[in-house]
Amino acid sequence: MKIKPNSKRGLFNSRSVVEGFGPRFLDEDFCRGFLLDLIHTGNFSCSFCGHGISNKYLNDFYKNNPIYCPGCRKDFRASSGTILNYSKLSCSQIILLSLMLELGCSVESIAERLGIARQSIPRWKRKLDFRKRIKSHSG
Ligand SMILES: [Zn+2]
Repeated sequence: MKIKPNSKRGLFNSRSVVEGFGPRFLDEDFCRGFLLDLIHTGNFSCSFCGHGISNKYLNDFYKNNPIYCPGCRKDFRASSGTILNYSKLSCSQIILLSLMLELGCSVESIAERLGIARQSIPRWKRKLDFRKRIKSHSG
């Protein structure tokens, strides 16, 4: 049976797509890599002593796996000492939070979309505004 292209069956509108949109639409590995690039700006080094890491550990760096530093002999992760450290939000949640903040969405709508408590939004807004101030002052 041929399906007519002008059939009304199965139609949806852009609003229903937006209403269903959430962090799960975003690829977590890509989001983590994107945020780590923003944070480290190509400087792949130990969070504790600044010892550069070998290219063979870049994959672990982007996966946020523990990396042994031959300089200080400690294990560190790419997230160590950054806003991603001990973050309760996934990287895809942080990306969507940033996007919604920039679009001027309400705290209520952001909390609902991310599935997190409203109280945590202002704290994240301060963290991300802090990063923005740093960037705008240096650039
Ligand atoms: Zn080190």
